[in-house]
Amino acid sequence: MRLVQVRRVVGAGPELSAQASASPVLVDRLERRVRYLRVSLTDRCSMRCTYCMPPEGIEHVERSEVLSLEEVARMVAAFAAWGVERVRLTGGEPTLRRGLTWLVERLAALRTDTGAPLRVVMTSNGELIARLAGPLKAAGLHTLTISLDSLDRERFASITRRDRLEQVIAGFKAAHAVGLPLKLNTVAVRGFNDDELGALCRFAWAHDATPRFIELMPMAAGRLFVPGELMPAAAIRERIGAELGAVVEPESMDPTQGAFGPAQYFVLRGGAHDGRRFGTIAAMTENFCGSCNRLRVSATGQLHACLARDDAGDLRSALRHPSQESGQGSGQGSGALERVVRAALGHKRDSHGFEQTGSGGPQKAMISIGG
Ligand code: SAM
Ligand code: SF4
Repeated sequence: MRLVQVRRVVGAGPELSAQASASPVLVDRLERRVRYLRVSLTDRCSMRCTYCMPPEGIEHVERSEVLSLEEVARMVAAFAAWGVERVRLTGGEPTLRRGLTWLVERLAALRTDTGAPLRVVMTSNGELIARLAGPLKAAGLHTLTISLDSLDRERFASITRRDRLEQVIAGFKAAHAVGLPLKLNTVAVRGFNDDELGALCRFAWAHDATPRFIELMPMAAGRLFVPGELMPAAAIRERIGAELGAVVEPESMDPTQGAFGPAQYFVLRGGAHDGRRFGTIAAMTENFCGSCNRLRVSATGQLHACLARDDAGDLRSALRHPSQESGQGSGQGSGALERVVRAALGHKRDSHGFEQTGSGGPQKAMISIGG
């Protein structure tokens, strides 16, 4: 058996040196251990989902401001060495990034501090997945999440502002056909798709996918948020149970997935779908901040300790100018990176500030931070 010495690194404690040789797992000031990194590869997208992107679009950053895939790989390698076990590639739309399969292959070859393989997962709108599913699977992608809010073509077009339902469904089926483990993410919007939750579950289960329903969050200073559209997780569960003629029971714990993400999982008892499971992601009504294990990096290398806050650390400068940033200069720049990460952990808030009225979120849109 391999013995691993774990040294806890809490916030910006002075004892951590950039050249730490033990396993310096990342723990924030509230003792929450960071195991999960979400990396946005781009702030661009082929869709314009109403809750994610303002109607006028966003001002895109210059390409030179976006981390290169080499820089992403270098950064993720450092996080893996600090005990991050899972990395999610997201955006914007990550499939728009040329070289994506190269990046997945490179990240999937990384090992965490304990020697376990780093799990590489991705969230996509599904539009380009039909041709990418095979290469992504071959590159070592562990799980793919596809976002889909409606199975009705007109509704789909109205929420994404794009008529692409057919392509997304083709992508979902292609991913299933090549054997990629799948999740289906749906933002539950009252008065829009609340009558489709059961159908979306059945669609997901037919493709061996786990459906998950997300509560609307007020990003972009609440400008895209309509309070009446928020469907609380309790209402989502009630609706699914009623539609599918089953009792909904909480799953005590999903040993493979549940420990990582913010989703809580439930099992149907009785009816035609007995034993089937689904998840809810309920930042608004069932706050899960106490067990937050995540950090996020935007496409420009801004480190966000919390999705709901605008404050960010500058990982891009640490990657590009390690000696100036750190003042001590490790060749790979990991000392400078570590300094930025530790500072963010030292300030990580105990909870998000989202209010059901639409206030308390960040000024930035979801697409700018990374979903
Ligand atoms: N483009 C990819 C996609 O749509 O899956 C990845 C990025 S997207 C920002 C990631 C997830 O965030 C999607 O499942 C999307 O539905 C969700 N999302 C975006 N804005 C949201 C909001 N305001 N509230 C809740 N979920 C949101
Ligand atoms: Fe694009 Fe995803 Fe945002 Fe929709 S939710 S606009 S697909 S980034």
